[in-house]
Amino acid sequence: MNKNIFHLKGGSLASGEKRDVVISEGIIKEIGVSITSPEGALVLDVSDSIILSGLVDLHTHLREPGKEDSETVRSGSRAAAKGGFTAISAMANTSPVADTAGVVEQVFRLGKDAGYCDVFPIGAITQGLHGRELSEMGAMADSAARVRIFSDDGNCVSDPMVMRRALEYVKSFDGLIAQHAQDPTLTLDAQMNEGVVSSVLGLKGWPAVAEEAIIARDILLADHVKSRLHICHVTTAGGVEIIRWAKSRGMNVTAEVTPHHLLLTDELARSYDPIFKVNPPLRTEKDIMALREALCDGTIDIVATDHAPHPAESKECEWQEAAFGMLGLETALSIVQKTMVDSGLMNWVDVQNRLSIQPAAIARYQSQGLEVRVGNRANLTVINPGKSWKVDRDLVASRSRNTPFHSMDLPGVVTETFFNGRATLLRGELVQEMSS
Ligand SMILES: [Zn+2]
Repeated sequence: MNKNIFHLKGGSLASGEKRDVVISEGIIKEIGVSITSPEGALVLDVSDSIILSGLVDLHTHLREPGKEDSETVRSGSRAAAKGGFTAISAMANTSPVADTAGVVEQVFRLGKDAGYCDVFPIGAITQGLHGRELSEMGAMADSAARVRIFSDDGNCVSDPMVMRRALEYVKSFDGLIAQHAQDPTLTLDAQMNEGVVSSVLGLKGWPAVAEEAIIARDILLADHVKSRLHICHVTTAGGVEIIRWAKSRGMNVTAEVTPHHLLLTDELARSYDPIFKVNPPLRTEKDIMALREALCDGTIDIVATDHAPHPAESKECEWQEAAFGMLGLETALSIVQKTMVDSGLMNWVDVQNRLSIQPAAIARYQSQGLEVRVGNRANLTVINPGKSWKVDRDLVASRSRNTPFHSMDLPGVVTETFFNGRATLLRGELVQEMSS
């Protein structure tokens, strides 16, 4: 058996058409009806499943270098493969911060060595994420990692002059500024969404306007200097309205929503369980409905996980002391199926657009986010939407266990992931060694 020839038999493409797909030499070799298996192929019956273009995440925290006890590039890549991702984008808030060519090249190489998916480093906008001096964006763009997305995520670039300079600077190499929209003074010591629940619990509130004010400001700034802007993890109905307005005026802005903000509300904070503590915070039912609608109509372009691993001691403590963040890679597609597909809002073509084709296009990842077509690189995800599974935090591939979906039954089992024609996940099991 040649381990790099696969015959996916009887699956459905995103469009619903039933097709066999043959993978060989790293590419999609053949697509057709009832194809004869090529010699040496591993035949996989995927007749209950859908074959999608490999998922692409533009917002992943990998914690290496610096906090390898929470996640490494390798463990995060494995979690990605398990969730159906063939490319992830590593956020810059590592230790040291990814604000130089040296650090982004290190992360890029670690990704290559792990071999489970493309790991594209995101560069910091400002040195040390301090929001003052611009980082070496040009050197990161020219480095082996060829960085095109820059973000201080975790922190907001709150100084409008710094933001303006960054937006202007990246234009020369078609870079993208991704903003974590959170006015720092409006959210000083904030713990959760500002609203009924925060007053009942006595936790310091995080008003929607702290997010919306930055979204509005940066859309206007980006339009003023004619640069591209990407808004990370939109969470409020008001933010959606501002982005919808900007797009209707032809402004060059894209936006993402996380799976958890499509499902979970601030009511969960009543448990005082820090597993539900996240930045930006869980909002209200009304916000969730607005986010779902925005993802459908394209106001929000993509789903991004904001996968944020934390060790147990950062979550098994008082709410106020706990770290912000949740795991996301291994549950993302199931949450999207549950909230968007099973609810009748989207079909699988939409899912493929929002989780693969659009994110790759926004980030200019040229070998990713390609239609399932003969000759394209075989970056593919196979999901059985009729099967369900119970999330178990003790069985995650991530090095951390902070999933808010523990013990939930979710629809959709990712059974296979193919990265550049090689299986990283096969019959639901991670392939143990990927490095060539
Ligand atoms: Zn963020």
